[in-house]
Amino acid sequence: MFGNLETLPPDPILGVTAAFRADPDPAKVDLGVGVYRDEAGNTPVPVAVREAERRVLAAQASKTYVGPLGNAEFNERIVELALGGLAATLRERTATIQTVGGCGALRMAAELLHAASPASVVHVSDPTWANHEPLLGNSGIALQRYPYYDPATRGVDFARMLGHIERLPAGAVVLLHGSCHNPTGVDPGPEQWEALAGALERRGVVPFVDLAYQGLGDDLETDVAGLRLLAARLPTLLLAISCSKNFGLYRERTGALAVIAENAATARAIATHQARIGRRMYSMPPDHGAAVAARVLAEPELRRSWQEEIAAMVRRMKALRALLAGRLAARRPDLDFSWLTGQRGMFSLLGLAPAGIRALCAEEHVYVPPDGRINVAGVSDANVDRVADAIVRVLERR
Ligand code: PMP
Repeated sequence: MFGNLETLPPDPILGVTAAFRADPDPAKVDLGVGVYRDEAGNTPVPVAVREAERRVLAAQASKTYVGPLGNAEFNERIVELALGGLAATLRERTATIQTVGGCGALRMAAELLHAASPASVVHVSDPTWANHEPLLGNSGIALQRYPYYDPATRGVDFARMLGHIERLPAGAVVLLHGSCHNPTGVDPGPEQWEALAGALERRGVVPFVDLAYQGLGDDLETDVAGLRLLAARLPTLLLAISCSKNFGLYRERTGALAVIAENAATARAIATHQARIGRRMYSMPPDHGAAVAARVLAEPELRRSWQEEIAAMVRRMKALRALLAGRLAARRPDLDFSWLTGQRGMFSLLGLAPAGIRALCAEEHVYVPPDGRINVAGVSDANVDRVADAIVRVLERR
């Protein structure tokens, strides 16, 4: 039956974790997989999330099925976290389903797009998170890339990005990263979001926002200013939300897909399709993470404590960026590393050639995925000099 299956190569990002684990070098450093880490190298569960878990378990008298759309309170609160006051204005036009993490939301969106409009094309940034193309494309939807990152400036190549969007046909879909672009760490600025909204509006192009890092760039509000601008102005928007990073709920697979439709009747129809797509794939999403996130958002003291923890994570990542940039500059004063401190979230691209990336893993025991993305949260006071030495040694490898 399965004898014809060949063994597949490891997933580009998860394979880095496996290689790291297998390396016996005591000084090895993992800058690979995209999870937040504290100074001790741990990925903590926020105190508010732990407390919410206790409350959820204490109040849970039954584990009977919830339903294909998942936890209704979670759906409402998580969309409100993303859209703020707009959520109420748009409620009638919004169809939300709880999903199996942010990945589940992305895939659900692709399935929905494919079902509604099989010929539509989703345009993804070049580069983008390594799982976007396999995850979305496996639904059967067609994908193309739009220019996004300029390695020379280490910033958004906005003129080319906008130029691409200005040429798209009505009904094309553009996947945008809500904040903390993965893997580049560079996001459009406020005027650029304005210009994007204008172009999408003029062309009849549909924004599809992947929101996996709300709160981890600057704060919970600033990070979604661009998203809110789009939601306020455009008739249709898809929003894939992940609670993995900001709630620390990774393995609980907690997320949501909210689709803002042109009118309430379309939104109601979309909800029935979301439910059917879920039912046919996995029936219903897992409840625990969603119930916990809903409690954190509902209880003012838990919400406050959670926000403070996120703010501390942001401060730590900004400090680590400055620390690493300083150590690199001290070793190579002829080069500019200030871009590291200007970028946001957990990720940056080192800009190494493939030979440099391979040497970083194989010779220096500093593990990064094949695109040379680093997870800044994997840097610490204890390893920063090792990391800086290693990077500097492979910088010129071609
Ligand atoms: N989008 C992006 C850009 C991500 O980086 C991630 C997590 N690595 C996700 C979506 C989805 O994460 P999850 O399925 O774990 O919630």
